[in-house]
Amino acid sequence: MNGKKLFGTNGIRGMVNKELTVELAVKVGLSVGTFFSGKKLLIGRDARTSGAMLTKAVTAGLVATGCCVFDAGMAPTPALQYAVKANKLAGGVIITASHNPPEYNGIKVLWSDGVEISHEQEDQIEQLYYEGKPRLSEWHNIGLISKLQGVNREYVEAVKTHVNVNLIATKRFHVIVDPANSVGSLTAPRLLKDLGCKVTTINANIDGTFPGRMPEPRPENLHSLAATVKTLGADIGIAYDGDADRAIFVGETGEVYMGDKTFALIAKSFLQKNPGARIVTPVSSSTLIKDVAETYGGEIVWTKVGSVTVAQKMKELGAMLGGEENGGVFYGQHQPVRDGAMTTALILEIMAETGKKLSELIGEQPQYFIEKGKVECPEEKKEKVLEKLRAQTSSLKTSTIDGVKIWFDDGGAILIRPSGTEPVYRLYAEAKNSEKAARLIEKYAAMLKQIIQSI
Ligand code: MG
Repeated sequence: MNGKKLFGTNGIRGMVNKELTVELAVKVGLSVGTFFSGKKLLIGRDARTSGAMLTKAVTAGLVATGCCVFDAGMAPTPALQYAVKANKLAGGVIITASHNPPEYNGIKVLWSDGVEISHEQEDQIEQLYYEGKPRLSEWHNIGLISKLQGVNREYVEAVKTHVNVNLIATKRFHVIVDPANSVGSLTAPRLLKDLGCKVTTINANIDGTFPGRMPEPRPENLHSLAATVKTLGADIGIAYDGDADRAIFVGETGEVYMGDKTFALIAKSFLQKNPGARIVTPVSSSTLIKDVAETYGGEIVWTKVGSVTVAQKMKELGAMLGGEENGGVFYGQHQPVRDGAMTTALILEIMAETGKKLSELIGEQPQYFIEKGKVECPEEKKEKVLEKLRAQTSSLKTSTIDGVKIWFDDGGAILIRPSGTEPVYRLYAEAKNSEKAARLIEKYAAMLKQIIQSI
């Protein structure tokens, strides 16, 4: 953040008191306030130790430009997004670093519909930030700061309106929930209780040092959850990331499922109820989603990788479902943003409607095996390499929206993308067995190396 790009793929992120300082937060507040020019804005945060400090710093900047600020306190990102829309505010700011370790924090900016602002709007704020000439108010027009109560409760109520609560309640599911000591603790147990579930929590005391586990819901962080589900004989385990916009599920067997497996279940159920609908997903998603769309009559709209891109595409098309392989599901009837509680309610509804266990539902889907690889590539060569790679693969079934994605007739696929942060190309292959996936990595890594040498 030293005179370089302020916004990354998910807003402003950095290590607290290193890159992300109080001074920077005040300046961001001034820039965002100038951008919204005196309107009413929401602010809220996740459970990080630096959250209150950064909230106050950003708030100071916002009110200095004449914006009125409603502080919703701690809440999941989707609850804050819902609150912006429900309270008819002009926008909002969320202090969160989502899945990053506790020493990080971040700043996200929302539009009046609760969706994160577009990258073009981020550029405008960034320009204001670097110009350093905020539109300061006269002393008598400084904005007011008020508290906004009840955001979490209203969000839970809104989620419930989109599922069959009575049907889910008849099943009396035993659910183990692990919100990573963050804001999912404020909504998920409440929602599950309202859905008639027996709720057991782990890591559900708010603690911004994240003592229970790291906030990224990866299998290696979810051993306690998986073991608890198995030991207690529960029906399902649910883990959220640090701001509870993503949900990862554990079956009754203790197996942790990758996000695209549960997204595919939701996509199938959605297409059965909404035939022909469009589903928005990044090219990094599994072929499973494509299979579901082909089988149940839906249309996939592929996007670049990144949740903001998916949300913006859904807005543009009026699409009602989106999803990512990391456990982010966007349910447009509620709001076109990643939403951990909404995803939870949808998965429980599917279990209730089908009468099947989660492992059975996942087991019915086509199985894919994933392999990953990387090839070093100097920054200055990246673009030329991509051009050549596109040319060499143009006779295949590809998408070039973000790197190159190739689909093969035997169900395999590979995504080859330049990393945004390191001088490497990354390869993600999937196939019906792990040997095939490994062979795809081998073949395309060799092709990449050859291209890189030729430039
Ligand atoms: Mg998140």
